[in-house]
Amino acid sequence: MKNLAILGSTGSIGRNALAVVAQHPEEFAVLGLGAGKNVRLLAEQISRFRPARVSVQDADSAAALAQLLPDQNGLEILVGTEGAMALATDPQNHLVVSAMVGAVGLQPTLAALEHGIPVALANKETLVMAGPLVMAAARRQGITIIPIDSEHSAIFQSLQGHRPQDIRRLWLTASGGPFLHHSREQLTTVTPAQALNHPNWSMGPKITVDSATMMNKGLEVIEASMLFQLPPEQIAVHIHPQSIIHSLVEYIDGSVIAQLGIPDMRVPIAYALAYPRRLPLDLPPLDLFQVGQLTFEPPDLERFPSLGLAFAAARTGGTAPAVLNAANEVAVAAFLAEKLPFLGICQIIAQTLKAHQAQALTSLDQVLRVDRWAREFAHNLISPPSGADALICTPEVRRE
Ligand code: MG
Repeated sequence: MKNLAILGSTGSIGRNALAVVAQHPEEFAVLGLGAGKNVRLLAEQISRFRPARVSVQDADSAAALAQLLPDQNGLEILVGTEGAMALATDPQNHLVVSAMVGAVGLQPTLAALEHGIPVALANKETLVMAGPLVMAAARRQGITIIPIDSEHSAIFQSLQGHRPQDIRRLWLTASGGPFLHHSREQLTTVTPAQALNHPNWSMGPKITVDSATMMNKGLEVIEASMLFQLPPEQIAVHIHPQSIIHSLVEYIDGSVIAQLGIPDMRVPIAYALAYPRRLPLDLPPLDLFQVGQLTFEPPDLERFPSLGLAFAAARTGGTAPAVLNAANEVAVAAFLAEKLPFLGICQIIAQTLKAHQAQALTSLDQVLRVDRWAREFAHNLISPPSGADALICTPEVRRE
């Protein structure tokens, strides 16, 4: 029986993780559930999975949750980052599922690793913002971080039984998102509703917009570079609209090993939860005859400049990826609130990166400071809202 703390339990990854747990009650016990403000769903999860402790975003949410639970049975309700940290560092945990959305996932995930607790990682911001610190903490404790992100899970699976020094290149799969064949002209007028209509994967709003700008792939390049300890030059991106091949590893002898499957997050989640075992899942099999054709194309950095910005930040390293991530979060939120045009997202990120003097990464405090600065800077750029014309998006990053 594996004891789990699931941070981000009401989000897309959290719900799917609990679906895997529900299918294998003999394998897992849920000790802690961390959520934001969706207390109604959290209350349902509590009555079904009976955790000892839960955490929510703020005191109002805690009060609302308590009202929904007539019979609390000694359940502890914790609040905020401290609450999530307490869940993550419970010494009874065998595995922490890190599936919070955005920068808030960093501290609890790092804390779990520093306490020697293995992590199944869906929150890519943890590695994007503070990859060197997080990987060092994992190394010190002898922990292998198991990725949940489907591409990184595919690479992780394709690396089993192989030597890291035999890798020539990692190939990250991108679906291309809903605007794959939109012209730059068409991209100037796309709406949040259109961006949220992803063709293959069902995900939360932030990551779905990231997928539409291809920043999601950019963040994944940085994530892969940290997780597999390879320079960005050894990471390539290809567009594969069918989302059947989830990513590939190219070896020095020219062999390419890939992981394929239907696009359903329960597959990489179950693999991360049960690693190194595999669990049977209630999913339709991959029907290659029905799929028929698998196609591939290179990404167009002219139409999707966010990907180029992410590669530039990855090459610069240090604090640059944290700035990229923070500016992106602010810009995506502004786009979803209809305060910024779609192509404005990349402009905000480019300008914030340009104003930042990247430094080597030395502490969590420094990361959080840089994150705060970038958010404020990006915020000030957005108000007043910038127009859709004269959008220049060049990957300029400075380093001391
Ligand atoms: Mg992914």
